[in-house]
Amino acid sequence: MKKIKLTDILESIEFSYVINDDNTFSLRDCQDCNLGNIENDKFDIDKNLAMNVIDRIEIYINDYYLSDIAERLRTECNDSISITENYFDFLEKMQKYPKVFKDDIDTMKTFVNPNLLDISDIKQNAKIKLKCFRCGTRLQKSAIKDYTYFCPNCCEDFYRFEQETKKGIFRCLSKLMQIG
Ligand SMILES: [Zn+2]
Repeated sequence: MKKIKLTDILESIEFSYVINDDNTFSLRDCQDCNLGNIENDKFDIDKNLAMNVIDRIEIYINDYYLSDIAERLRTECNDSISITENYFDFLEKMQKYPKVFKDDIDTMKTFVNPNLLDISDIKQNAKIKLKCFRCGTRLQKSAIKDYTYFCPNCCEDFYRFEQETKKGIFRCLSKLMQIG
């Protein structure tokens, strides 16, 4: 099966994440709801990270995945499953219709066994100590070619020089303006 990243799952349910000062991991709700104070939870970045996060976002997996799959089982396969069934039961049902659920089967496998999820990009970002010049959030590696950093709080990509010299540039500019 193809590698699925924990961050891909998060993106699909409209979440991002930040690395805290103590090197723990916290979720960020891109819809700005912070239901159940989910953003305040801290997770250690270790081998159990994916398992603990998948556990915490269960309600979102129900909303974004299970209800959709139950609906497609009904409409496209003339079959049914209760939304209260566990991931493994979902997986077994889906495997009966591999054509309908091609890509989703791999995703469901990762819900059954979160250790299958790739967290290498999170571990990589946890090494970046530089903070956003604008908001102080720890930066991550940008996913966009040519940009260097991404601020998960500003939701913006930056070039390295912007982060490292922004304050310096402003100082120079204001000096020049005064002279001019
Ligand atoms: Zn920022």
